[in-house]
Amino acid sequence: MLGRVHSIDTFSTLDGPGIRTVVFLQGCHLRCRYCQNPDTWNYDSPTARVYTPEEIMAIVKRSQPYFSFSGGGLTFSGGEPLLQHRFVREVFKHCQRESIHTAVDTSLYVSEISLMDILPYTRLVLADIKQMDPEKSIALVGASNRRNLENLRLVDANEVEIWIRYVLIPGYTDHEDDLAQMAQFIRGLKNVTRIDLLPYHTLGQHKWQMLGIDYELGPVQPPQPHRLIQLKRYLQEKSGKSVHIPS
Ligand code: SF4
Repeated sequence: MLGRVHSIDTFSTLDGPGIRTVVFLQGCHLRCRYCQNPDTWNYDSPTARVYTPEEIMAIVKRSQPYFSFSGGGLTFSGGEPLLQHRFVREVFKHCQRESIHTAVDTSLYVSEISLMDILPYTRLVLADIKQMDPEKSIALVGASNRRNLENLRLVDANEVEIWIRYVLIPGYTDHEDDLAQMAQFIRGLKNVTRIDLLPYHTLGQHKWQMLGIDYELGPVQPPQPHRLIQLKRYLQEKSGKSVHIPS
């Protein structure tokens, strides 16, 4: 069993609780117009490196002292990590034996089978909501959100903790109706413990240029700080959940 890996970060504080090792897997079938990592899209990219589960575990275990005092662990991200769900499952099984906390950062625009494959070994799902409106979802990421929302209900029904991640893009995802719809949906999910409201930024734009792909959101500017705070309060009130703006 081999995993195709884009890169590994051994000291992240942004991808789940505590200090974490984050393994970014290669390959994604979505085409989000604001993607910061278009270099992860191509599963067959010649720049990807191949690892066995044991090799990943050897890297992860080096950070075990940091995990112990910070409550951290391993996060699989991407690309879309569930395109390699068998590999994720194998590594997570090792983690379970070593009592290492496991998280997966996923769009959830994936099959139910791939999700169910990893859930028994997963302590936390960092789940994207891209857009609540199916048509706007197609325009923004290239696919309807039906799978995304069904899978969120499935994770919740399996009693796995969920942190929602929502990118706030002026003109695309920041209408109050969008947030009201999302808040109503999230209210019905009892295992959501946190919502991260992520301000859109353009830091990944140069990668699009390097890959020779048009970046159509070019003129869009990041949300104003006061608008971000306003929408955070709105979402918190409507959803009844804790909303964070990562610093
Ligand atoms: S799901 Fe993530 S990696 Fe895939 S296109 Fe969207 S933002 Fe990029």
